[in-house]
Formats: sequence, C-alpha cells, structure tokens
Amino acid sequence: MANWDQLGQELEQLKEQGRYRPLSVWQSGSGTWMKIGGRRVLQMSSNNYLGFTDHPAIKQAAIDAIEQYGAGSGSVRTITGTLSIHEQLELELAKFKQTEAVLVFQSGFTTNQGVLGSILGEKDIVISDALNHASIIDGIRLTRAAREIYAHKDMDQLEALLKRSSGYEKRVVVTDGVFSMDGDIAPLPAIVELAEKYDAFVYVDDAHASGVLGKNGKGSTDHFGLHGRVHIQVGTLSKAIGVVGGYVACSQVLKDYLIHKARPFLFSTSAPPAVAAACLAAIQVLGQSSELTDRLWNNTNSFRAALQAIGFDTGVSETPIIPIIVGDAASTMKFSDRLLEEGICAQGIVYPTVAADKGRVRLIVTAKHTDEDLQFATRVLQKVGQEFGLV
Ligand SMILES: *Cc1c(COP(=O)(O)O)cnc(C)c1O
Repeated sequence: MANWDQLGQELEQLKEQGRYRPLSVWQSGSGTWMKIGGRRVLQMSSNNYLGFTDHPAIKQAAIDAIEQYGAGSGSVRTITGTLSIHEQLELELAKFKQTEAVLVFQSGFTTNQGVLGSILGEKDIVISDALNHASIIDGIRLTRAAREIYAHKDMDQLEALLKRSSGYEKRVVVTDGVFSMDGDIAPLPAIVELAEKYDAFVYVDDAHASGVLGKNGKGSTDHFGLHGRVHIQVGTLSKAIGVVGGYVACSQVLKDYLIHKARPFLFSTSAPPAVAAACLAAIQVLGQSSELTDRLWNNTNSFRAALQAIGFDTGVSETPIIPIIVGDAASTMKFSDRLLEEGICAQGIVYPTVAADKGRVRLIVTAKHTDEDLQFATRVLQKVGQEFGLV
C-alpha cells in the first residue's frame, strides 16, 4: 500500500542535521518590532526595507481600491483581469525604471518562470551565475535552451563561456542584481561589456535591489548608470515595495511577446486591485523623495561598521543584507535561537542554501530601524557572539 514513510524519513534526517524548522507564527503585522509567543522582538529578517508594509498612504490606497474595484480581479490578465489600476501600475513602473514598457506578474518567482520560460528555445543558451536565486534556476529548467553556470561573479569564466557560445541563436546572461545570501552586488558593468562584446542579452533580477540600489531605489541598472544597456530587468513588488508581485521592465516588443507567451501571465489570475493600488502608491512614494533610501543606507553603513568593529565576519556584504558567518548548521541555528531569546529575529541560513561551513544568520537593515533599535541589536549580538566565541 502506498504510504508517506519515505517522506517521514527524510524529515527525520533534517531533524538529525538540525535543519528541521517549524514555521514561526507572528502575532502582529510586518514591522520593526513584531510579536511572537506573546513577546516583542526586533525584526531583522524581513525584506521590508523601507517600512512600506504598514505605510499609511500605501494602506489607504489598498482600502480605496477595494471600495472602487472590489476584492479580486476576477480573471487572468488576458481575459477580464486587466483593470485600469493594473495598467496604471505598469505605466508608473515603466516611468520609474526608465524603460519602454513594464509587465506585472503575480510574484517575482512567477516573473522569472514566465520570462525565462518563454523567451528561450532549443537554439539558445542561458549563462547563469552560480548563486542565482531559486526562481531563476527553476525558470531555466522550464526551457529547452542549453545552459551554463559560471562561478559566482567570475567574469573570466563568463567570457570563456560566451566565447564558446557563438553557435547559438540567442545568448542570455542572467544574474541577481543583489545576491540574497551574501548581500553583495553583481558586477553589472563588466557583464554588460562582455555581453556587448559577444552579442548577448543581459537579464538582471533586482528582487533585493528594487527600492534599495540606485536613485530612489530604481535598481542596479540605475546604480551603475547602465540605462539602455540591460535588456531585461526583473523586479519584485514583494520586498522593498512591501506588497506582493513581480515585474519585468523591458522593450515594448518583449512585453507584447510575453503577453502572448508567458504561462503564469496567461494561466494564473492577476493581482487583486488592492495589491496593484498599494504597489502603485509605493512607487509614487519612492519617486517623491530619497529620504527613505538615504536613511536605509545610513543605517546599513553604520550598523555594518559597528558589527565589524566588534569583530564579526560579515562576509562580502555591500548592501542592507548583512550576514554574520557562524559555521556549521547546528551552531548557526543555535545562535539564531539564542538571539530570538534575547529579543532579535535573525534568520539562520545553512547548507545546502550556503556552503556547509558558511552557515550564517542573515540580518536585514531597514529604513525604519531607529538608532536605538540598532544599538540594542549591536549590544545583543556582541553578548551572544561572545557566548559562541565568534568575537
Ligand atoms: C525573493 C526573490 C525572488 C522572488 O520574489 P517574490 O516576489 O517573493 O516571488 C526572485 N528573485 C530573487 C533574486 C529574489 O531574491
């Protein structure tokens, strides 16, 4: 008789390796201080970089959209699920990203599935950074294209692979803009130069760069002044933008193609009006002033410097994603548990997501952390770091 014993055994193995994690259930909305188990803890693990999850104007836009358009969109985009609020969001995003067009998807994950899954055929090749996000890896799996992986940010290897790829029709180089586990930035200028030399397309996934890098959070292309030279910019509306969704900023031709070919766009219902309206409001807030992104970077730079001064190994972090390298999986998870007892949520990330000896807690600084919040975090981290012999 069929049973689930084998799945149970795999779960037992995870428990033995210290990698079995029940879900944390939070008793408050996303914010700087959150309630869990009846206690308030400082949140340093959410992607809410700008505090948009509970921004008053953004919440109000969602409420107004429910009143005007209702709770759901009623259909996929290609049938009756494109409401004027969806179109407004795409127009505003295209202005913000300074591209010809933008197409919005249900999430960043489905954006990569939809775009990679439809633009690449068997005569094409995709060349991908080894540390790219799971949704890129899965998107590539949906294609019949040839695939090559280059070691993380290794431009010599990328060039060698491009040199060997002249026989393919389309060559596409894919990279995260900001890498989510180490918080380092892709060498986009070098990638663009190589792509131009070998006639390849550049595809950057700015999930952790949207709302973070570039003027007012316009992303990595803006950060490096590469407007017009990056062919496909994917972004998420789920992280700094504070709601949910994903988008691709690209040419009008590519947008039109995706409307006819991208499967998550064609076969999964569009975002509820409240989501589209909240995202639109968030982009408008971002466009108005650099106050929040300035604050985000001030917090990031001072907090990282404080951790390094104590003696922590923060790896190659260049962004608000700041890892503290601990070591093996079991100690990493214990370190994270101890921080939670002391009032800080710092997610542990271990093998196989990162190398076996590079387990880390990943801290994410936001614009909404106050100086007092970050001083509290520094004190707690120093105390628990000493317990673990890390500093
Ligand atoms: C988080 C992330 C995604 C997924 O975005 P969602 O909107 O949460 O689905 C895609 N790509 C990268 C690089 C990410 O970090």
